[in-house]
Amino acid sequence: MIIAERKPIEEILSIIGDVDSVLIAGCATCVADCMAGGEREVGILASALRIAAAQRGKQLEVLEVTVERQCEREFIEKAREKVDRVTLVLSTACGVGVQAMAERFPNKPICPGVNTKFLGLREAEGVWSERCAACGDCTLHLTGGICPVARCSKSLLNGPCGGSKGGKCEVSEDVDCGWHLIVERLTALGQLDRLEVNIPPKNWAASRDGGPRKVVKKEYRDEERE
Ligand code: SF4
Ligand code: SF4
Repeated sequence: MIIAERKPIEEILSIIGDVDSVLIAGCATCVADCMAGGEREVGILASALRIAAAQRGKQLEVLEVTVERQCEREFIEKAREKVDRVTLVLSTACGVGVQAMAERFPNKPICPGVNTKFLGLREAEGVWSERCAACGDCTLHLTGGICPVARCSKSLLNGPCGGSKGGKCEVSEDVDCGWHLIVERLTALGQLDRLEVNIPPKNWAASRDGGPRKVVKKEYRDEERE
């Protein structure tokens, strides 16, 4: 799941500036699950903007809409009627949703209302943590199902470094050492001997280092099938 956090209200007020109308566009998928930009958060943010406008003696019309998935064009289309009625759209979807809206409505300012953080897992109520950095060349089978790229602060493929202490990473006592977790997991699996095998360098070209990425499934492309 994509994890996001709502931007501070001061930043949002600065982003929307002096417009007289704004549509807050939420997404009912990842950002709803991580309580950053679903229908409930859209309502809370709308109230906050109305109050802030009233306190400043300004006229601000605030509309609300939440679509099923802002990262898909057919769902976005359902927001069109409200998009047309406002000066600016504040999207509380992840960065993909914001850009999908910007592509769909090229003549309308589409601004982010959240900070998109990482691919993560809900650990407990109100707690999410990073699990995957979308490196494009998954090696979880070599590390007991625990990601060294996302969970080691240095993304070491053949860790640990010398900084781990009491199972915590040297960057912070609040951060589990990813390689400590990997060793514990391999021990539990009876596969500790895997640590003796050198993990080869990752193909970083499959990650962001190779530029913007694209997945094309030829079997689903009409022109490829003909
Ligand atoms: S190895 Fe890469 S794809 Fe696999 S979990 Fe880690 S970052 Fe994600
Ligand atoms: S202490 Fe552990 S998580 Fe932190 S950088 Fe070293 S190996 Fe990676």
